Amino acid sequence: MPCSKDYWRKCEKCNFVGKTASNWSKHLKTKKHQLAVENEKLKQQNDKYKIMELELQLAQLKQQQTTTTINNTQNNTYIDNSVNIFTPNPEANCLSDIVIPTLKEMAEQEIIPSVAIQKIIMAMEERVRPILYHKNILFVKQDEWKRDDEAEKELTKFCNEKYAVLNDEFLNMDMTLDSVLYDRCMEYAIAVPLDKDTITHKLKTKLIQQ
Ligand SMILES: [Zn+2]
Repeated sequence: MPCSKDYWRKCEKCNFVGKTASNWSKHLKTKKHQLAVENEKLKQQNDKYKIMELELQLAQLKQQQTTTTINNTQNNTYIDNSVNIFTPNPEANCLSDIVIPTLKEMAEQEIIPSVAIQKIIMAMEERVRPILYHKNILFVKQDEWKRDDEAEKELTKFCNEKYAVLNDEFLNMDMTLDSVLYDRCMEYAIAVPLDKDTITHKLKTKLIQQ
């Protein structure tokens, strides 16, 4: 069968070069192409988070400016008590109180687990969050507030526990699930480890430190 030059087409996503229409449509179903599409989606999502983060920073900055103005107008009575010892709220939630969505739910919404946890924490009122930074020192509440290395340790333990839960869910997953969703579940449960840095990323931002 002669192949028409009109069909010559290169896929921008996976670099596949198609010479016939049927080749082209077959290639759309290949793992390589689908992975490339997935990757692109993930990248776009990351950009979305970056934008959201910038917007949040901007809002915080505006708030800070307002506070500074108030402080300046009251500067006769304003006393800087930032040297006082910092004590986080004893009534805050514990790390283990965080309920994360199921692997399948996260895969359906295309939110990687670390980001899902980050969002849950950010959605909590500041005074009840189990993780906070004060003057660049990490505080984590599990039973009681811990700081520095002890706090890091609690966070690592939490990540390992949740990672195990996701792995478990994946291993017991229905194999008849839609293949794209199944692959994404696999990626989220196994390939993408839960990482502390993503979870604490927004909290670390100076503007939202307590
Ligand atoms: Zn392709």
